Formats: sequence, structure tokens, C-alpha cells
Amino acid sequence: MDSQPTPAHPTWLGAPSSARDVLYQLLVDGPLSRSALAEKLGLSAGSLTRVTKPLLTSGEIIETDSRHVGPTGRPTQPLEIVAGRHYFVGVKLTGTHASAALVNLRTDVIATAEAPIGSLQPQAVADLVADLVRRVEKSAPQPVAAVGVCLGGQVTDGGKISWAPFLKWEDVPFGDLLKQRLGLPVSIINDLSALTLMEHWLGSGRGIANLVVLTMGAGVGYGLVINHQMITDANSGLGTAGHIPLDPFGPPCDLGHRGCANVMLSQPSLESRALASMGRPVPYAELLELSAHGGVAKTLVDEAGFALGRLLTIASALVMPELIILSGEGVGLAAAAREAIDAGRRHDREAHAREVPIVVIDVDDTHWARGAAIGAMQQPAP
Ligand SMILES: [Zn+2]
Repeated sequence: MDSQPTPAHPTWLGAPSSARDVLYQLLVDGPLSRSALAEKLGLSAGSLTRVTKPLLTSGEIIETDSRHVGPTGRPTQPLEIVAGRHYFVGVKLTGTHASAALVNLRTDVIATAEAPIGSLQPQAVADLVADLVRRVEKSAPQPVAAVGVCLGGQVTDGGKISWAPFLKWEDVPFGDLLKQRLGLPVSIINDLSALTLMEHWLGSGRGIANLVVLTMGAGVGYGLVINHQMITDANSGLGTAGHIPLDPFGPPCDLGHRGCANVMLSQPSLESRALASMGRPVPYAELLELSAHGGVAKTLVDEAGFALGRLLTIASALVMPELIILSGEGVGLAAAAREAIDAGRRHDREAHAREVPIVVIDVDDTHWARGAAIGAMQQPAP
């Protein structure tokens, strides 16, 4: 597994310099005292003052109002990046629609737009995304610095999409197609990476060194932060965690794995199992509702919950995270099968092992788009 440290040289911050390092540190960490900032960057107090003075004058950073007493007993004012100095557009792309959000440096949402995807032809989708970017950019007080796109699938360096099943794409240079249309830096990342960045930077996982993000929906997604850095590898975006075996008596997935995470937890699989055992199409949300009344629906949902519990224990044992975030459009399972999930977690856990805390978050397309924008903010210089 290759670790991918958060790039310290985003294109939009300009050439390497101590000033750029100060801006980036404040962007990632939020407001910092001068002493904390100097320590993180390995600068003396005098050097830091020389670097920050022009940034304060130009309005890139400010001294916050929250005065507190520093180690010397004198009141200090933490430094903070000015969120409105730069704007980014994040886009969440699915097989059916695209959602764009204009955000500032804190990823506060300024404007949103969305459009259905008609043709899956890459040129047509690039036209549509470029149009959405231009629409939300109108609400920005200044030109957008960079654009980030996230989607389900595998993305290689340089914004090339090697595999995106929902768009039926293979080896599509989507980053280049967008750059040609917009003339801006473009970053393309897997959607799980976007959500993981969002949660680690600004969400429930903020400040947490070791974090797991698990999503359920069309498939099962897995994101990982170790020592404050998101981990990706050449297989990221292929959904490999979806084939972890969870139930030896479960049905086989399309690759023949009996009871793997995909077949036990994904919405399409649960819906097809419901159809087979209940004799009629039962949408996922209805299946969760019906499970409260017992019967076949409860059996199916509890089996899924038990499998999810086992997956949580596997992740806890192998990764040793401080927190697991559960999300995705199928995350309603967490509430519908609470007892079964707890039973599944206990089933494989060492009796003395502490239970890793879990946070369940329901996210909309704008949330994913904000994560894509963070990808653009962190994009390294070419
Ligand atoms: Zn499988």
C-alpha cells in the first residue's frame, strides 16, 4: 500500500515559498497561534514574522478576534486564512446527474447547480460539467482557482479515468477534456477519496489521526486515513473492500464470492434478494421500513446488519482506527438493524477489545462536491 501524503504544493498557491507553506498550513489546520505555526513549519519566531507580515498586509491572512493568553502570559491572536480570497468548484458526477458547488477556502457553499446526464459520451459529459462550472462561477467575486471532480471509479494520475462503471467509461482523459474547456487546473478523484477528505478536513473526522470511512449504496466503499494522511493505492476506486467475505451462508456475488460485503450490503443486492424472497419488487427504503414489522424483510435486513457488524470489527482489528464513519445512500441500514449490527460486531471481537466509536452521517450531493473541491485545493503542482 502506497501512502499518499496530503500534497504540500497545490498549484493555485503559486511557486514554492515560506509564504505558501504558511497559507497551506492555516488552510489545513484552521486558525493557529504564531508559536504553533512556527513549530509546525520549523521557523523561528522572527522568520515567521517576516513571512506573515506581507500576507497580513495583502489580506491573505488575518489575526482572529479570539484572543487568548499565550505561553509567555501575553495575549496572542491566532492567525487565520481569509476564506474569501480564493474560490473553487467541486463537482459530484454519477451515472445519472452532475452536481456542482462553488465554495471558498473553508468549503462554505456559495452556489450550487445540477443537471441530469443525457449522453454518457465523455465529450458530452465534459460539456455539461463545464457548463455547470461556468454557471456557479458567476456567483464568485473573482475567477475560480481550480475545479475538482469526484466520481465512482478508478482514477490515475493526471485526471485520467481508467474505469468508471456507472458512466461505462474506460481510459477516458476526463481531466484533459475539462481543462480544454475551462482553462483551469482540474483535479479528478474517486468519490470515496472526496468524502474521506471532506470528513477528515472539516467533518466528523476532523483532527482524528486514524480514521475509516465506510459507505453503502450501489456498492461498498472504503476510505482510510492513517496518521492524518489519506491512504490510496493503485487499486483505489475498484471497490476491493466490497469482496471481503462476511457470511459463509450468504448468496454469491457476480464474481462468485459467497456472502461478500457487496452481496450482503449493497442496495441492488438487497433489493434483488427481497424480490426473490418476497415475490415483488421492494425498494431499499421500503425494505428497511418493513423490517420493523418482522418477517422476511427483518431476516434480510438483520443478515445485512450482522454482516456490517462483522465488517466493522474487521476494520477495527486490522486498521485500529479511532473512529469509523458510516455513510452512503444505503446508510439507513445502521438505524434499521442496530441490534444485528451490535451482534455482528461482538461476534468476532476479542472480549477485552474496546469498541471503536461509530458516527453515522447522511450526505447529499453537495457534500460530495465539497470533498471534490478539497481535492482541487490540495492538487499538487504539475
Ligand atoms: Zn464479491
